[in-house]
Amino acid sequence: MYAKIVILNFPPEVAQKALVCQLVKKFDLLFNILSAKISNRKEGVMVMEISAASRAGFNKGISFLKKQGVQVSSPEHQIFKDEEICTHCGACTAVCPTQALFIQRPEMRVMFDKEKCSVCELCILTCPTRAMGLFSRAMETMI
Ligand code: SF4
Ligand code: SF4
Repeated sequence: MYAKIVILNFPPEVAQKALVCQLVKKFDLLFNILSAKISNRKEGVMVMEISAASRAGFNKGISFLKKQGVQVSSPEHQIFKDEEICTHCGACTAVCPTQALFIQRPEMRVMFDKEKCSVCELCILTCPTRAMGLFSRAMETMI
């Protein structure tokens, strides 16, 4: 089994199509939607975990989405923690649903495990010092 969390950006012209369902029907993939938003301009952004029997099967599904005009990127490059600003107050660990942010004991330092991050952005809203943020699109790493 191969599984990966991805961010799908749907431009307005494809946002209404049931492309994600096609992943199941055509490519035998499974998905778990972690968050979804539609902007005022009708663009859609979805964060989901996609699972496949093999990496090859996963790649076929991703290629299909890209051919339809969907922008696919990897979430682990989207959230960052600025270590120079973080005061290790721990507020973000209380809201992080995936335990990507956690307190390392006995040092009591707040650590960030990028691999576990689902890009829900709750930590950005919670952090009092704005140490948590999103990379700009220009810095985003495409799959
Ligand atoms: S909420 Fe912000 S300042 Fe507090 S531990 Fe988390 S990242 Fe650091
Ligand atoms: S965006 Fe922040 S709160 Fe959400 S999973 Fe990632 S580290 Fe945790």
